[in-house]
Amino acid sequence: MRHVIVVGAGAAGIMAALAAAEGGAAVRLLEKNNIVGKKMGITGKGRCNLTNACTMDECIAHTPGNGRFLFSAYQQFSNEDLLTRLHQWGLETKVERGGRVFPQSDSAVEVRKLLYQRLRHAGVTIQLEDAVQDIRAWDGRVSVRSASGIYEGDACIITTGGMSYPVTGSTGDGYGFARALGHTVTDLRPSLIPFTTAEAWPHALSGLSLRNVEASLWKRGKKLASHFGEMLFTHFGVSGPIILMLSTAAAHKKQCTYPLQLRINLKPALSPETLDQRIQRDFQKYIRKEVENAMKDLLPQRLIPVVLEQAGIDCRLPAHQVSREQRHDLVTVLQALTLTITGTRPIEEAIVTAGGVSIREVNPKTMESRKTAGIYFAGEVLDIDAFTGGYNLQAAFSTGYAAGTAAAQEEMP
Ligand SMILES: Cc1cc2nc3c(=O)[nH]c(=O)nc-3n(C[C@H](O)[C@H](O)[C@H](O)COP(=O)(O)OP(=O)(O)OC[C@H]3O[C@@H](n4cnc5c(N)ncnc54)[C@H](O)[C@@H]3O)c2cc1C
Repeated sequence: MRHVIVVGAGAAGIMAALAAAEGGAAVRLLEKNNIVGKKMGITGKGRCNLTNACTMDECIAHTPGNGRFLFSAYQQFSNEDLLTRLHQWGLETKVERGGRVFPQSDSAVEVRKLLYQRLRHAGVTIQLEDAVQDIRAWDGRVSVRSASGIYEGDACIITTGGMSYPVTGSTGDGYGFARALGHTVTDLRPSLIPFTTAEAWPHALSGLSLRNVEASLWKRGKKLASHFGEMLFTHFGVSGPIILMLSTAAAHKKQCTYPLQLRINLKPALSPETLDQRIQRDFQKYIRKEVENAMKDLLPQRLIPVVLEQAGIDCRLPAHQVSREQRHDLVTVLQALTLTITGTRPIEEAIVTAGGVSIREVNPKTMESRKTAGIYFAGEVLDIDAFTGGYNLQAAFSTGYAAGTAAAQEEMP
């Protein structure tokens, strides 16, 4: 019987441990927290967006950080495989907007507890509050030193996650283990993270959320990416779903240094001509009002002074005195409200870490190290990251499954 040691009980580690136990191995799972799946418990704003009900090709397309590496892991364990298993174990799920899959109960904690029960049921030895300090490998054997002792086995699967939300246990320990085992760790960057801005005005608009806008990111006049949807002003800059998506684009552009420019199209559905006609109608309707009040049907009240200032129009100008040129400038600003992006919030606040153990040094079928036999990697510790939508957890579950299955298999003589 093979002895498999799994380091880190997040989505990847739990699935790796379950797959290895199913494969007939004796499995020891070491976790530094006092519960398994602590990060999973806060995913999806406490609802756990488990996966996405799209095709695996679409999953890969939604994974800008080395999605193609996942092809083989997804063939072995797809989103359907995950859901079939969860349903068999009694978890009901539902599909929401954009194919996002959640537990019917909207409870991430239910998922975490269910997986803990499955680990126990599979006979996995779970060691909580047992931080791993060192991992070594020689001649196909591995040795893992943790707070409680030294454990030897035939394989060690490193599933320590990234380095965001360190309070959940993901403090980047796996990168150190990987380096010590001869691996390259690519540049670690925050992804799915809010932006900070040079301008102070977002602070004054803190809490204001905009729907159906298009935000685009620019560097020296070149568009890097754009997304349509919802965004939010905060005390430090900008956040919300489309901003997080743009941060992923920034994380994946080579040598993408800040500052960058953010342009917000507040009326993306309208052509400049149609928008101009709309403004003329509003100014006619509120002909006796100051321009600031004549725009109240067009924009949230708090945003109007900002737009007028960027357009160079005095808020107190009577609506009927706004010239054609000024209206032109107003339309331009409404379709490209501009902010200077100075950087991101710290990596600790990122949803995922971009970068990690180089995928070139890991076999995509088995997740085994190409440098050191008996060592496997799965989940966010690898140089993989995806957009929001359930893709990150699916990547962790699938790579975990592939690693666990392979690690449990007897070596061919
Ligand atoms: C706020 C938030 C919300 C998110 N929501 C979603 C979502 O809804 N859907 C989605 O797909 N993705 C979501 N993600 C991303 C997703 O949670 C991660 O990509 C995923 O959890 C990665 O799984 P993992 O198993 O690789 O790592 P982790 O879940 O980070 O697990 C790693 C584990 O290893 C343990 N560990 C680390 N070092 C050691 C050590 N030295 N010894 C022992 N144990 C160790 C840690 O304590 C931790 O339990 C979210 C992330 C955040 C931060």
